[in-house]
Amino acid sequence: MPRDGSVTFGDLIGKLDVLRVTCGKCERAGLYRVDNLIRRHGHDGRLTDWFHALTKDCAHKLSPGLADPCGARMPDLLKLGSGTVPDGPDAA
Ligand SMILES: [Zn+2]
Repeated sequence: MPRDGSVTFGDLIGKLDVLRVTCGKCERAGLYRVDNLIRRHGHDGRLTDWFHALTKDCAHKLSPGLADPCGARMPDLLKLGSGTVPDGPDAA
């Protein structure tokens, strides 16, 4: 499933030292070091894949229906001007 413009961890080098993940609904607030993420997932690891795996335990994602979906975001990606910020559980 080719996704042109997918952001990889390698793309963050020199732009971000840490990646924040926040969710206003489940009060998630995580800080992830980019170098650690690269070590675990590789330069070519896609943020979207990691993000979906990271947030799959969100109670809002597990609840049936999409009336109140998870609000998890990676706010730092907005600063990078990326157009591929995941926006909700089924943004793809
Ligand atoms: Zn959430």
